Amino acid sequence: MRITSIKAYPVNIPYKKPFVITGGASAVGDHVLVRLETDTDVVGYGEAAPMTSYSDETQNDILNAINKYLAPAVIGCDPFDLEEIHSRMARALPGHHFSRAAIDLALYDVQGKALGLPAYKLMGGCVRDRIPMAWVVGMGTIDEMVAEAVEHVRRYGFKTVKLKIGRDPRKDLEVVRLVRQALGPDVKIRVDANQGYDVATAIRTLRKMEEYDLELIEQPVPRHNLLGMAEVAAALDTPIEADESMFDQFEAMTLIRLKACDIINIKIMKPGGLYPSKKVAALCEAAGISCLVGSMVEFGLGTAAGLHFAASTPAVEHACEPVGGFLYAGDVVQEDFSLSAVVDGCLPVPQKPGLGVTLKPEYQTIW
Ligand SMILES: [Mg+2]
Repeated sequence: MRITSIKAYPVNIPYKKPFVITGGASAVGDHVLVRLETDTDVVGYGEAAPMTSYSDETQNDILNAINKYLAPAVIGCDPFDLEEIHSRMARALPGHHFSRAAIDLALYDVQGKALGLPAYKLMGGCVRDRIPMAWVVGMGTIDEMVAEAVEHVRRYGFKTVKLKIGRDPRKDLEVVRLVRQALGPDVKIRVDANQGYDVATAIRTLRKMEEYDLELIEQPVPRHNLLGMAEVAAALDTPIEADESMFDQFEAMTLIRLKACDIINIKIMKPGGLYPSKKVAALCEAAGISCLVGSMVEFGLGTAAGLHFAASTPAVEHACEPVGGFLYAGDVVQEDFSLSAVVDGCLPVPQKPGLGVTLKPEYQTIW
């Protein structure tokens, strides 16, 4: 089996309401879909999900990277030769992990469809068939954030809530205090500062916040300040999670060696797709670091891929966050990843071959 063509296409879908984090607000998901054709009748689809307040790549960067560099480097390869394909992509264009991820996802879609197996069967098989999810509360007023957390726990059964913090320590403390008061002791609360504090502010603020029983504290200080992450981790009792500080297995290794985190957030976009994400998970397993599958707020293709990864990765021990289906006003796939698909706070793992999703008719004709 050989790859005969890779096409990339921009797709923009608005959020139901702007999603606000420390770095800025997103009103529209400006993503890229990939169609990977082979010399058989099997076709695979992938997605890259950049976010300008977070990632190094934009939608236009990704279109250019795939069309000009990555596709020419891998056309002719066997779609099962993942090591060779990833090595060719890395040589053709260093960095650009999200661009590579779109192709990696399409490769798993092709492999699964060719074999008649869901993608998780190609990544170690099933360790869980439904994925506990966290509800992620973006920044808003204190009242808005508390009301949103309470509503989603009550209506949909989420057992974990994540609160975006990092711009205003006093407000952050008040939000966490009131959410804990409203939800009681049994719901897990995690916070994500998205790099918003300096080390001193992080230690001072988060020590007070620990009083409200946090499950974990995500990326308290800037991405490159790994020693600062280690200082915060040493100063607090609550587990510290690395998100922006971990974009690939090499950064994961450095975080582990520096004792800079207790948990790693594996968003499948960051290391360049599912295959390199498995390498990160293996390092974590060996180091005694637990993981969760975070979200670049992907559309349905990326969301499905995240669910397959969580389904097949034992190191994923915490509620996950492939929340794109909850937050967008539409989707590119026919399958439902919206709040109405949530049962008891969990999303089911797709079971059809490949990524287990089918593009809506209007996205099947764009190529
Ligand atoms: Mg994060």
